[in-house]
Amino acid sequence: MVRSARAERVHFRLRVGVALLSWGGFWVCQARVGDGAGAGRAEIFVAPQVEGVVPRAEVVEPLEGGEEAVVMIDPGHGGLDGGTVGNGLVEKDWTLKVGLALAEELRRRGHRVALTREGDSTLPLADRPALVNAAPRLALLSIHFNAGAADVAGVETWYSWPKKPEIMARLHDGEGLPVAGTGPDDGQKLALAVQAAVQRHTGARDRGIKNREDLAMTSRIVCPAVLIECGFLSSAPESRKIGEAGYRKKLVRGIADGYEEWLVGRSGVPTGAGVPLSAPSAGEAAGDAEH
Ligand SMILES: [Zn+2]
Repeated sequence: MVRSARAERVHFRLRVGVALLSWGGFWVCQARVGDGAGAGRAEIFVAPQVEGVVPRAEVVEPLEGGEEAVVMIDPGHGGLDGGTVGNGLVEKDWTLKVGLALAEELRRRGHRVALTREGDSTLPLADRPALVNAAPRLALLSIHFNAGAADVAGVETWYSWPKKPEIMARLHDGEGLPVAGTGPDDGQKLALAVQAAVQRHTGARDRGIKNREDLAMTSRIVCPAVLIECGFLSSAPESRKIGEAGYRKKLVRGIADGYEEWLVGRSGVPTGAGVPLSAPSAGEAAGDAEH
């Protein structure tokens, strides 16, 4: 398909198999454009070059009504809910720092981003899924930090499959994801990609990906959703690193890389291939958990 667009409206995905050529006074751009259901299609965009106008790098995921889907970032806790505390660090402050930095990094790479909170506001856990589910989203990245024994450290990424019955029903009614069989949803692939990329960037102890059916910010979310436990505030060495801007940058680049790698591979239907899951940590309570 060939369409024309004004130069400033030329969108292309960085690092997602996109070719952008300057040819005879035109920009020629090939991009894979999602259809909101995970099945991408290739399109060619041609636009005349206008002096001084550089095509914007932007992910295009058109939705009904001309809206574009965003990736949601959820900085855990906030306001009256501080989350966990360790070595002088309060979780809500560091989820916000990482969440805002992640939003900036993804926007810099051309993605459209929305956040559940952008300041120190109280946002009850019960209200967060509705915010995310209000429109079709590309994915949800929920940011948290962990606590445990002083000698425990590392990064782990959570997803839920199956999700809550009402969410499974919405998916089954055609809200964009295949539900056939008992295979994992896209959230597992997203968890694998994010966990691997974060580990690669930070060198943090790899605690693996974990499936948990009762985790609110993954099991009550329609789009593929992961909750990243970015490290243990209760570990003195790890909390020191979390306090360093340079380390958080590695963390953010890892999450962004993992998200992009998942996005590239998203066009396929989940295979249901079994992936060994880590055993849940000891002492995790039943019920609808936050993290
Ligand atoms: Zn938390």
